Amino acid sequence: MAGKVYKMIPIETIRGCPFTCRFCNSPDQMAFYKGLGHSYYRKKRMDLVYNELKHFKDKHKVEYNYFWADTFLGMSKKELDEFCEMYSEINLPFWMQTRPETITEDNMTKLKKVGLHRISFGVEHGNEEFRARILDRRWKNKDIIEKLKIPKKLDIQFSTNNITGFPTETKKLAFDTIELNRHIDATNTSIYSFVPFHGTPLRKMCEDLGLINHETITKCLTAESQLNMPQYPPHEIEEVRKCFSMYVKFPKNRWKEIERAEKNDAEGNRIFAELKAEYLEKYMPKPDADPHGGIDFDELNNPNVCVPGSDAELSTETSYFKDEMN
Ligand code: SF4
Repeated sequence: MAGKVYKMIPIETIRGCPFTCRFCNSPDQMAFYKGLGHSYYRKKRMDLVYNELKHFKDKHKVEYNYFWADTFLGMSKKELDEFCEMYSEINLPFWMQTRPETITEDNMTKLKKVGLHRISFGVEHGNEEFRARILDRRWKNKDIIEKLKIPKKLDIQFSTNNITGFPTETKKLAFDTIELNRHIDATNTSIYSFVPFHGTPLRKMCEDLGLINHETITKCLTAESQLNMPQYPPHEIEEVRKCFSMYVKFPKNRWKEIERAEKNDAEGNRIFAELKAEYLEKYMPKPDADPHGGIDFDELNNPNVCVPGSDAELSTETSYFKDEMN
């Protein structure tokens, strides 16, 4: 996490999501289960979450928890207080993902106190009208910008997740996502090309518009766009993705260079490599990781640290194994 390798564990607090983004599988799972007379959206009891966390910390020496909830802050104030009280006993750093509109200074302060280290926020698209109409995410850009000042103020690291290549999108609209991110001082930004997952409303829209065949199985999030959109073809989507972080961080008087770096030819790739070196120097937090993940080899006495191939690893493994057996 953030350039360091920790022994981490994914933990669920909530399954499902109360929101209805049209590109996401979660609303469809909710609808499917509703049709069967069940609720997919479930919250795990805090005493059960505690038991899991305690088990992994004590028995497997976990150093960092990764809360794998679609929208971690899909909880009431009372539930949040219950979580904080429970987690204060765990006393380990943790990561979570949530929507910008779910955070307040109060919940961020409370969570930071018990170990919140880093957050991922779904921003997804920067054009308000397009975001509401195509994605069903109805928030004002100014509100997102205001909300994301809170973790900055409290010195909590965060990244924004973005998507480009939605049906009917254009390169011009993708630049609205760049603009919005320029107003958010995130620790990192990421951008993926839209994936038309079967079962989602946007998949149906893509098929109805003839942008993809019904039979086409989607590829992974990092693959090139599978949509056939003349106004925003896959190579343009890739160009935006290639230079997204640079457009977000560099001053606008460098945009001409960045535009040239978009091209996947010798000149474009040379400029890209130079800009990338400058970007890493100026805008990336210095990684304190080494190829071994920031492990301090002088501190092998730490029982939570396990260096591959070391005596410590062998003895730690043996002792975990013994624990499992007993
Ligand atoms: S908020 Fe996130 S998890 Fe929930 S529906 Fe939207 S994209 Fe899916």
